[in-house]
Amino acid sequence: MARDKIPLEILELIKGPVPEKKAEYYVERRIRQASRNLRRHIYQVNHDSTQTGRAGVKFLLQESPGTRGARCRLLPCGEMIEPGEYRVHVTCRNGFFHVECFERMMEYSFNEGCGEQVSLFRPDLNRLAGPMEACILKEYVRRTLSRIGAQPITFSPEEWGVIPDDMNCEEYFVSPTDPAYDEHHILSAALKNWEEIPNKAERL
Ligand SMILES: [Zn+2]
Repeated sequence: MARDKIPLEILELIKGPVPEKKAEYYVERRIRQASRNLRRHIYQVNHDSTQTGRAGVKFLLQESPGTRGARCRLLPCGEMIEPGEYRVHVTCRNGFFHVECFERMMEYSFNEGCGEQVSLFRPDLNRLAGPMEACILKEYVRRTLSRIGAQPITFSPEEWGVIPDDMNCEEYFVSPTDPAYDEHHILSAALKNWEEIPNKAERL
């Protein structure tokens, strides 16, 4: 890892030249910490919500609004999420994440409560250009829950919008037999494939 890619707060912890492995170790440690904090936060909010009747945590897939971006809350990233870019809004106090960064955080907790976490995803129906993103997110949730043998969830139109019957998003998913397949970045890869299609609006 190049020294200029390492966040300042991590550089401060490492004196002298930064061996690549050591820098990666600190970055991974911060991501693990962020992942633990998120899990604790979800547990607390969802526990409170059963007492108070308030909404539990959701992971909303959105497009960053056109006028301003937001800084990614994953500390080893900390970059701006540019207007128009996809992001995950963790409702309540945890802010916004690049989709890839959010996936990196989830990777560390994949074996513990993965199904519960994945089932918290929802499309933000007010902040997505069309139903294809909802279709991709739904397919991602469905595939992940099925792969780990977790209970399927109900995709209600109130939360997921109406996805046309003939809409096919499966073609945007990287096949597990493809060398580019990465189990921890299934969602961001599918969104990227969709985004890269020229004139995508005309295909809807
Ligand atoms: Zn990020």
